[in-house]
Amino acid sequence: MATAAATPSIDHNVSSFVAKTHKLLINGKWTAAASGKTFASYNPATGEVLANVAEGDREDIDRAVKAARAAFETGPWSKMSPSERGRLMWKLGDLVEKYLEEFAQLESLDNGKPLKVARAADVPLAADHFRYYAGWATKIEGNTIPLGLAPRGKFLAYTLREPVGVVGQIIPWNFPLLMAAWKIAPALAAGCTIVLKPAEQTPLTALRLGELIQEAGFPDGVVNIVPGYGETAGAALAAHPDVDKVAFTGSTEVGKLILQAAAGNLKKVSLELGGKSPNVVLDDADMDKAIAGAASAIFFNQGQTCCAGSRLFIEKGSFDKVVDGISKEADKIRVRPGFDPDSDMGPLVSEEQLNRVCGYLESGLKEGAKATAGGARVGDKGYFVKPTVLVNTNDKMKVVREEIFGPVVTATPFSDPNDIAVAANDTIYGLAAGIWTRDIKKAHTLAAKIKAGTVWINCYNVFDAALPFGGYKQSGWGREMGHEVLEHYTEIKSVCAAL
Ligand code: NAP
Ligand code: MG
Repeated sequence: MATAAATPSIDHNVSSFVAKTHKLLINGKWTAAASGKTFASYNPATGEVLANVAEGDREDIDRAVKAARAAFETGPWSKMSPSERGRLMWKLGDLVEKYLEEFAQLESLDNGKPLKVARAADVPLAADHFRYYAGWATKIEGNTIPLGLAPRGKFLAYTLREPVGVVGQIIPWNFPLLMAAWKIAPALAAGCTIVLKPAEQTPLTALRLGELIQEAGFPDGVVNIVPGYGETAGAALAAHPDVDKVAFTGSTEVGKLILQAAAGNLKKVSLELGGKSPNVVLDDADMDKAIAGAASAIFFNQGQTCCAGSRLFIEKGSFDKVVDGISKEADKIRVRPGFDPDSDMGPLVSEEQLNRVCGYLESGLKEGAKATAGGARVGDKGYFVKPTVLVNTNDKMKVVREEIFGPVVTATPFSDPNDIAVAANDTIYGLAAGIWTRDIKKAHTLAAKIKAGTVWINCYNVFDAALPFGGYKQSGWGREMGHEVLEHYTEIKSVCAAL
């Protein structure tokens, strides 16, 4: 692997932040874990320890939930106007933007992603998310309802939309800051209070965000941040009897555990889970755009994207051209440490992910798939994998059926565009899909047939705070973003008065 000629140095603020002993944010105070334990977060470009972080567990989660409950029921937050809440949220968005470079560097160090990607995508999208939901704080409304069976003027009936209460939020490592923003912002807009558990691999940007939440002036206990392991801190949060709602993003497997844990007090549950998203290229597509789009659909963020276009279906007449094109795109991708200014793709997040992705590559190749690009690890330091294109696959293979969560795409030809929806839908997942064609009739007809929460036409991975995102089938329950997510953080109360 080529190393950087001129790797930019880490900002002083970032290195001093990383070097801190990181604590838990509970009730506005940075506190050690009750057990006194810490865990390490690693730099995936080197495999070395990056930072040490207090390891939250059941007792810490319990303290955090108590703080969130007090803040929700009686604290200053419970008396704040929606407009004041919105102002704090806007300020938080401004602070995230002010420290954009710091956040981008932290994210690149902790997660591995190219610094330029964190600068252009993760951090600005997170700042925008706080601003978008700052606007919603003053726009959460009920309705007045004319009763169908009563004469006019006999009753006044209306609905109130009230915050659901204390919410537990559990997030993954692929977009650590952005996933924190996706969770925290709508909950704050609704007036909820929060206990957030970041992923063990990438706790740092959530902790820095915690500092800015304090700087912005949110009252104590409104947002509590408790890093720790999923099986301990995460499980305790999902099962906690005084948590009113749990919002989770991660694997479908853990999503099912969250559901079981939530059954104890029947807390509300929303789940944003895995995917194996089809990306369909028709013969009449603008091929340059389709090839570049199909490559970025799978290779963006090292392929560690829940909606990655990991099953590429190509109409027969264009199969060779598209496979050749995307393989060339894959070969061009410079796989280097995220701090290298020439890095297009960083390492995978962890040794576990490296082993998982390499395991899938071995299984696919052993079963007869052929790699037209990539197919193996890069070097032996850090967790780098070559962007990989697999052909000669069949729909029984694990590489076609299971979420790999790495830079690996399978390419399959098809002959009849009328049948492609069946193949596209042949998965337990339904998170996203892509369609590449110049024919608007074909595009919208296929979009209607695909069972997925998002369908991109002649584009991929376009995200906006205003656009709902979430899964059909085993890709999840509910939607993030847009006004739809506010449903998860509010309860509806019907009030009916006899006049
Ligand atoms: P994961 O285990 O589902 O982790 C997601 C979050 O859930 C993390 O904060 C994790 O904590 C926590 N968690 C784990 N077990 C838990 C439990 N029993 N109760 C409560 N919370 C728990 O995902 P992963 O292990 O990081 O990655 C495995 C696979 O999941 C990936 O290869 C990929 O297929 C998929 N994934 C999907 C997404 C997505 O956006 N849909 C994101 C990440 C991963 P700790 O990690 O700190 O233990
Ligand atoms: Mg890390």
